[in-house]
Amino acid sequence: MTVTDVPETSGTTTFDSLNPATGEVVSTHPVHGPDEVRAAVARAREAAAFWSSLSFAQRAERLRAWGGVITRRLPQLCEVVHAEMGKPHADAQLEIVLAIDHITWAAKNAAKVLGPRRVSPGLLMANHAATVEYAPLGVVGVIGPWNYPVFTPMGSIAYALAAGNTVVFKPSEHSPGVGTWLADTFAQVVPEAPVLQVVTGFGPTGEALCRAGVDKIAFTGSAKTGTHVMRACSDTLTPVIIEGGGKDALLVDADADIAAAADAAVWGGMSNAGQTCIGVERVYVHERVYDAFLAEVTKRAQAVRAGADRGAKIGPITMPSQLDVIRRHVEDALARGGRAVVGGADAVGERFVQPTVLVDVPEDSVAVTEETFGPTLTIAKVPDMDEAVRRTNATSYGLGATVFSRSRGLELARRIRSGMASVNSVISFAAVPSLPFGGIGQSGFGRIHGPDGLKEFTAAKAIARKRFSIPLNLTTFSRPAAADKAMATLATLLYGSGGKLPRRSRR
Ligand code: NAD
Repeated sequence: MTVTDVPETSGTTTFDSLNPATGEVVSTHPVHGPDEVRAAVARAREAAAFWSSLSFAQRAERLRAWGGVITRRLPQLCEVVHAEMGKPHADAQLEIVLAIDHITWAAKNAAKVLGPRRVSPGLLMANHAATVEYAPLGVVGVIGPWNYPVFTPMGSIAYALAAGNTVVFKPSEHSPGVGTWLADTFAQVVPEAPVLQVVTGFGPTGEALCRAGVDKIAFTGSAKTGTHVMRACSDTLTPVIIEGGGKDALLVDADADIAAAADAAVWGGMSNAGQTCIGVERVYVHERVYDAFLAEVTKRAQAVRAGADRGAKIGPITMPSQLDVIRRHVEDALARGGRAVVGGADAVGERFVQPTVLVDVPEDSVAVTEETFGPTLTIAKVPDMDEAVRRTNATSYGLGATVFSRSRGLELARRIRSGMASVNSVISFAAVPSLPFGGIGQSGFGRIHGPDGLKEFTAAKAIARKRFSIPLNLTTFSRPAAADKAMATLATLLYGSGGKLPRRSRR
């Protein structure tokens, strides 16, 4: 969807959600101002008393019911996603089914991950029982992007809800209808209280949410906006998760399955019209297989077409302003000695960008250093995989990565400076609900998905319970001198030999 007009005032103003393929109005939504956002958070605070009083099993039942509603109404939600952000229905369905899988995983595993757990009290505190449990924070604010308007925010929403928080969700101004659809269907399965609410609007609505007294903000969007979010949250020490952008690389080793690697590069780079935070943007290929790989990529990329018809594999560029970024990246690459083996500068149209594969692009070109967010790939030949890893890591981002190698996949994946990696497949880490999702560096911090994602929306609560008294009571002023002596002896026995070098290595 596209937005017609950024209003200067807030409150009663509305904005239109536009179909990015046609420019038609999809729906109209209010621009919520600070007062309305604060009121939503106040309602969420009250609802938190109800929601957190339910057991994990009761919340899980509601979340599974929500997953059921979404599943039964899948074609309807696919249509809203398609209309607002332009991706083909089949891609919308893929994203939504993965999101339902995450809802189900979070519902099923919250009790196990967050429920009370006994831990060893250690020798010195052996007369205590030690328990750790993870309590919900209260109200979580979720600020989402438009590119995966269901899957991406759901990584925060489902996990925050399963952990016992209520949520106020501010969807992107390009996908307000999707956000509203999600909150409406949730209200069907949890009619008692506004456990999941939506506030709509532009950046200022997101900023108002940061300042509305929520207990945590889960932000997904560009690194630049992430800095604004952190600044707004810093006034109230509101903690934040930042899921930012990326410049992910795919590495192809000399022993890789070339056809599979090429398929992954084209799908990873071009699906969703390249508007994927963990999409493949750069490819580094071992020189021994470079020619064969490039031929395979060329063949596959030529078969992909952007369009609005059912036969098109990719849709429009959702944000009109992104077209200029893509054009600038392609033109810079070509002006600095790069070649387009598929597409090129002409591939960037008024709403659609056709697949573009660039080679011989200097490593300091913006096409290699900045997030392009279009259906483009840069492919570079490297003498060995050490060089591939070095170039992959020469970025301020650190979100995901892909490695194709028969013998060294895990080793190379570990050497890449990123939060996630896939070996011999692409983007697969995002579809495994038990794996944490998130980046490092300019790609952000904090994790959604998996046990780490559940814990992000909780505060660890530590409880030490004394079970019986022992002579060595240390936490009292009436401690006898003998207790201190016994303590010193015990410490010597337990830790005194630590760090001593073996006799024969002493000088
Ligand atoms: P964006 O940063 O423009 O906007 C994201 C959200 O932040 C929107 O809802 C927007 O209204 C809101 N916002 C804008 N200004 C704000 C402010 N000052 N305070 C609070 N909120 C504000 O990003 P986008 O264009 O919607 O999404 C694309 C970006 O998101 C890309 O960089 C992409 O890589 C990234 N992304 C990251 C992930 C991830 O999980 N790491 C997933 C999807 C997208």
